[in-house]
Amino acid sequence: MAVKIDKKIKGYSVVTPEDKAKQAEAAKAEAVRREAAEAAEAQASNVIQMHERIERPETLIGSTYKLKTPLFEHALYVTINDIVLNAGSEHEQRRPFEIFINSKNMDHFQWIVALTRIMSAVFRKGGDVTFLVEEMKAVFDPRGGYFKAGGVYMPSLVAELGSIVEDHLKAIGMIKDPELSDAQRALIAEKRAAYAALDSKKNSEISLAGATPAAVATTSEAPVVTDDRSGELFPEPKVRPDRREEDVEVTGDGGVSFPPSATMCHKCNTKALVIMDGCATCLNCGYSKCG
Ligand SMILES: [Zn+2]
Repeated sequence: MAVKIDKKIKGYSVVTPEDKAKQAEAAKAEAVRREAAEAAEAQASNVIQMHERIERPETLIGSTYKLKTPLFEHALYVTINDIVLNAGSEHEQRRPFEIFINSKNMDHFQWIVALTRIMSAVFRKGGDVTFLVEEMKAVFDPRGGYFKAGGVYMPSLVAELGSIVEDHLKAIGMIKDPELSDAQRALIAEKRAAYAALDSKKNSEISLAGATPAAVATTSEAPVVTDDRSGELFPEPKVRPDRREEDVEVTGDGGVSFPPSATMCHKCNTKALVIMDGCATCLNCGYSKCG
């Protein structure tokens, strides 16, 4: 190709085959570098973007959660449906796709419909939707919250909906529970056992005080109070063993219930704080006021 040069030529060099090879090499290196950077970026974000290309399948799998609050006469039923991505492959993943709330109670339907539509839209956008849980759980009802079964404090209905979404995301593996260390587990188990022992001791002392001398002799042989209601050990057998059952149900990791006298633990928002050795101790998370 002929090029007309208008300016003064100040210097020149001839492009040799070696120069061409060098240039090609540099271009290749640049391409490799760019590719690596792109791969690293893709890995770092690791976001699953769902977009318009994902059409709603005819059938979705999901779960329905019953929500009974003291705020409403009727229960709410929360349904979260999931889409299964890459089904059958090793990258199979369940992601929430839509949420519905049903109830006989229509008073709050306006905002419930709005909330669920917006949540479904967020689910469908994909990516990290776990922020919804944090946002919802941080909503406080200015009229005050309530305790749900198990003694967990819910600051509002929206917060309880958030905790249902959290449970669901945990069930499908999107949120990982922060693992308690073995040491923490052991500590909590130890405190629960200590409290149970303390409580049964207290109960046996009470029953000893009300027992006849003959019965005292029997109990000194077997100091552990059993649920055996025969004999003169329990003058009012129906009262004492029943109360005990209600008082100490502190075993089992899931669905643990705590003594009715327990107060609110501010670390885990659960009514599981008892006084042990003059020190407030949480039977749920192991928190202790005395360290
Ligand atoms: Zn606690």
